[in-house]
Amino acid sequence: MKVFKFGGASVKNAEAIKNVASIISRYEGQKLAIVVSAMDKTTNKLELVVEACKHRDSAAFGHYIDEIEEFHRHILHELFSEVPFKASNEMDDLFTGLRKRIEEPFPENYSFAYDQIVSVGELLSSLLLSAYLTEVNHRVLWADARKLIRTNHRYQEGKVDWIKTQERMNDSFIPAFEHVDIQVTQGFIGHTAEGFTTTLGREGSDYTAGIIAYCCDAESVTIWKDVPGMLNADPKYFDDTILLDQISFKEAIELSYYGASVIHPKTIQPLQNKGIPLYVKSFVDPEAPGTAIQASTAHDHLIPSFIIKRDQLLVSLTTRDFSFIAEENLSTIFDLLNQLKLTVNLMQNSALNFSFLLDRSKVDLDKLKSTFAESYELRYNEGLELLTIRHPSEEVIEKLTTGKEILVRQFTRQTARMVLKDTNGGAN
Ligand code: ASP
Ligand code: MG
Repeated sequence: MKVFKFGGASVKNAEAIKNVASIISRYEGQKLAIVVSAMDKTTNKLELVVEACKHRDSAAFGHYIDEIEEFHRHILHELFSEVPFKASNEMDDLFTGLRKRIEEPFPENYSFAYDQIVSVGELLSSLLLSAYLTEVNHRVLWADARKLIRTNHRYQEGKVDWIKTQERMNDSFIPAFEHVDIQVTQGFIGHTAEGFTTTLGREGSDYTAGIIAYCCDAESVTIWKDVPGMLNADPKYFDDTILLDQISFKEAIELSYYGASVIHPKTIQPLQNKGIPLYVKSFVDPEAPGTAIQASTAHDHLIPSFIIKRDQLLVSLTTRDFSFIAEENLSTIFDLLNQLKLTVNLMQNSALNFSFLLDRSKVDLDKLKSTFAESYELRYNEGLELLTIRHPSEEVIEKLTTGKEILVRQFTRQTARMVLKDTNGGAN
């Protein structure tokens, strides 16, 4: 059995869904588990529905739901000359359920409310896709991820209960392939022991594909994307990007850790545990080989990869009492950062100085200053870039840093990381 994951862009309209169906037809006679995300930007829209619901703004609430409904109904009508009664009815039920949310008091737990509402995006897309695949003569079953993927109670960030999930997969999902060739299910969503819907974190559908593949001992996972595979750099920032045709699981985890955004970082671990290869392929050009991510590290060093994080803030703390930056100070600093819910992208220390890099957009500067004011003198520098190069060469480093000041540099054998400042940046 193979697992295919189709993201929001691959099902953004009727034509795109037809394209997905044509890709699936190429695998005639094989067993396929299809994981689908919400169509296009539906998840973002549903987040607005949650906000409107929370603020008891029934006008905005109704307006966003109308837009979502119109969008999906339009696609339904474009896909079918005669809309199947069952699909239309199920869509009715989903929208009726959604509209009722404003009649009930908004739950105390925001994340709980979020998951109950936002999960509708994947229910809609999977419903449409499975109806269309049935229409074009595939033997298809719609599978409810809310009955398969068991998580804990951390709404918006459900943590998978692997044992319960495996049991559920063994009970229903795996045996169902005796009767059908294709099962279509939702990415991103799961359920608690009590049956409430949870989500796995934004962009979590890739992870669902990894979970399903793990539980079913799948032959492979393919993530179908609008790019030809994993590239060595983000084409938004670099010309002349190169396709990485083969990389190891380890390298893929490193790249996504440093910020390459092609695959959700959690996806790889379950696959690596069972040695299940992961392919990243283009839904625009399905014949092209794409990227194969597998156990062998033989190809990892061949092409340098570049990852840029923009809008970085470099903060420098100096102890007021001239105590060294050692275990005690570091543990205080990290406690404070943890309280502020900040993630450090890079850090460096000297005797009296500790510097760390943060995403500027996540920082409330006044709060940061007041948090550290008592024990540390704080300076900062904004408008910076963090450049990570995997498998760097002198030549590549030279090329990417010309005309820029290097504020921090950290080199290991496989990775060069630099904090760079353009001529416009200023110190405070
Ligand atoms: N639909 C969800 C999101 O947009 C999950 C996903 O696309 O992977 O975050
Ligand atoms: Mg998405």
